[in-house]
Amino acid sequence: MAKKQFKAESKRLLGLMINSIYTHREIFLRELISNASDAIDKIYYKTLTDESLVFDRESYYIKIIPDRQNRILTVSDTGIGMTKEELDDNLGVIARSGSLGFKNETEIKDGYDIIGQFGVGFYSAFMVADKVSVISRAFDGDQAYRWESKGVDGYTIEPCDKETVGTDIILQIKENTEDEKYDEFLEEYRLRSIVKKYSDFIRYPIKIDVSRSRLKEGSEEEYESYTEEQTINSMVPIWKKNKNELTDEDYKNFYFEKHYGFDQPIKHIHISAEGTVSYNAILFIPEKTPFDFYTRDYEKGLELYSNGVLIMNKCPELLPDCFSFVKGMVDSGDLTLNISREVLQHDRQLKIIAKNIRNRIKNELLSILETERDKYEAFYQSFGRQLKYGIYNNFGADKELLQDLIMFYSSKEKQLTTLAEYVERMPEEQKYIYYAAGESIERLEKLPQTELVADKGYEILYFTDDVDEFAIHILMNYKDKDFKSVSGGDLGIETEAGEDKSDADHRDLFEYMKNLLKDKVTDVRASRRLKQHPVCLTNEGELSIEMEKILRAMPDNHNIKASKVLEINTGHEVFDVLQKALEADREKLDLYTSLLYNQALLIEGLPVEDPVEYANNICKIMK
Ligand code: ADP
Repeated sequence: MAKKQFKAESKRLLGLMINSIYTHREIFLRELISNASDAIDKIYYKTLTDESLVFDRESYYIKIIPDRQNRILTVSDTGIGMTKEELDDNLGVIARSGSLGFKNETEIKDGYDIIGQFGVGFYSAFMVADKVSVISRAFDGDQAYRWESKGVDGYTIEPCDKETVGTDIILQIKENTEDEKYDEFLEEYRLRSIVKKYSDFIRYPIKIDVSRSRLKEGSEEEYESYTEEQTINSMVPIWKKNKNELTDEDYKNFYFEKHYGFDQPIKHIHISAEGTVSYNAILFIPEKTPFDFYTRDYEKGLELYSNGVLIMNKCPELLPDCFSFVKGMVDSGDLTLNISREVLQHDRQLKIIAKNIRNRIKNELLSILETERDKYEAFYQSFGRQLKYGIYNNFGADKELLQDLIMFYSSKEKQLTTLAEYVERMPEEQKYIYYAAGESIERLEKLPQTELVADKGYEILYFTDDVDEFAIHILMNYKDKDFKSVSGGDLGIETEAGEDKSDADHRDLFEYMKNLLKDKVTDVRASRRLKQHPVCLTNEGELSIEMEKILRAMPDNHNIKASKVLEINTGHEVFDVLQKALEADREKLDLYTSLLYNQALLIEGLPVEDPVEYANNICKIMK
C-alpha cells in the first residue's frame, strides 16, 4: 500500500510538535472531542433539516475507551464521518487554517508556539501517541476507510470494515519515558478529569465504561466486578447556564475548546436576553490579532445556533466590520433551522440581535477603557486600527459608535489619549484639535510644522497609522471641535500683528522661487508656524502630503498629488542669505532654492527627486 506524504509545511510542523516539550499534552483529548462534537453537529443538523431522516437524540454520543493492556485509547463518535477523499484532504494537511501564517523558524522552535498560535487540532494526538489510526465511515458512503500514520513519514489510507456511520480515533499511546508519564492517558479517572476540565459543556454525552464491583448475587462476602457506562459531562451548554455558576476559567476553556483564539481573551460577555427576541450569547474580546486578521482571508462572524443546534459557523450579519475581532456564538430559539443565507440577511430578529450585540460590545469596550486602562491599551494595540477603519469605511455612519473608543499618541501626555481626554484638557482659547501625521512618533516629535502649535502650549495628536488621517477626515470633528493638521493651510492661531506683511514685503523673492519650483509647489510663502527651522512643506486643500504618500504606496497606485506649499521662516538666518542672493547672485539663489526644497521633502519623508543633483549641489556649496 502506497504511503502518502504530508504536505511539506505540515510535515515540518508535525515534526516540531511530536518532539515538543509542550506541558499540556492533555489537550489532545479536548481537540479530539471537539472534532467529534463538530462531526455530530453536522449529522444532527442533517437529520433535523431532512425529513426523510429519523431523528434520534440517543444515537449521538462520543465514547472514550481506554485499553491499558494494549496501551490503546480510542475516541469514538457517531458523527458524520469522512469519505476516503475527506480523510486524505482533512488529515493530510496540518492546521490548514493557520500553518501558512507562521512567521519564522525561531518563533516555532518549540511546541509552545505552534500549539499556542495555531491550535493543531487532530494532530495533537501525536503528542501522546506513536501511531494514530482513524477508522471512519461517512454518512453518505457505504465503505469505511482506515487512515493510519506514525507521524512525519506519511500516512496510508485503505478500505476496512465498520458497521456504523462515524469515526474512531485509535491512539497507540507512547511508552513512559523518564520525564513523561503517558500511562495517565489510559487511566479512567484521569480521562474523566480532563473531560470535566475542558469538555464539560459539549452538548452530546461523552461516555466511558467504569468498572465497579458489587456483591455477587446470593453471596454475602463474594464480590464481582462489572462495567457500567457513564456519561462524564454535564452537557448543559455554557450559554444556557446561569452566569453565577460560571467562573472565568469556564469561559476561557470554552474559548479554547471552540478554537475562537489561542490568546487569553481580555473579556467575555454573556448575554441572556428575553423580550422581543430571546437569545443567549457568549462573546469574547480577544487580546491579540489572529495572524490573518488584517488580510483579506480573515472572515468575521459569530457561530449561530437555533435552539442549541449549530446552523452556521460564521454568521457575518451578527457583527459590524468595526468589531470583526469579536469571537463567540449566539443561540436563539426564534430562528428557524432551515434558514438560508439570503433570508438570514434580511431577518428582522437577527437584525435586532446584531444591533444589541453591537451596542453591548461598545459599552463593554468603554467600560474596559474606563476601568482597566492597561488592558484596553493592549487590546487597542491589536485592534485599534480596525476601529479607525470602522470610522473610515462607513462614511462616518459609525461615528457615534466608535469615536470614544479610538486613541492617539499625545505630544503632551506622551502616551495614548482619547479624544474626550484631549478636549477636556484644551485651554479655553484653543479652537481646534491639532494633529500631525507621519511615520513614527520619533519623527513627528521633530517635525518643524509642529513648532508654532507646540509653542502655544497646545497638545498635538500624532497619527502614525495609515488610516488615521483618512478616518479623521471622515469624522471631521469631535464635540464640535474641528480637527486641524499642523501641516494644513491656516492653523487658526493668531499671530503677532505685523507679521502678515511679510508676504507682501518679500513678494519678489517668493515669486522668483515659486517660478523655479513651478511644477513642484503651488506657492512659496512666509511661514507663520516655523520657529527654529528654515523651511517646511505644508499643503493646501483636502489631501495632505501624508495621504499622498499612503495613496501612492497602494497597489493600484493612485497618482494623486497634494498641492504643496513651501513655507519659509523669514526670521531665520537662511532667509537673509536668500534675500542677498536675490540681489547679488541669481545663480546661487537657484541653487539654494533647489536645496531648500529638497530638504523640505526629506523632512517630510519624501524622496528627493534627483539625488545625484542634490548631492552635487551640496558639493558645489562646500566648494
Ligand atoms: P480543525 O478541526 O481545526 O479543522 P483538525 O486538524 O482538528 O482541524 O481537523 C481537520 C478536519 O478533519 C476537520 O475540519 C474535520 O473536517 C475533519 N475531522 C477531524 N476529526 C473528525 C471526526 N471525528 N469526524 C469527522 N471529521 C473529522
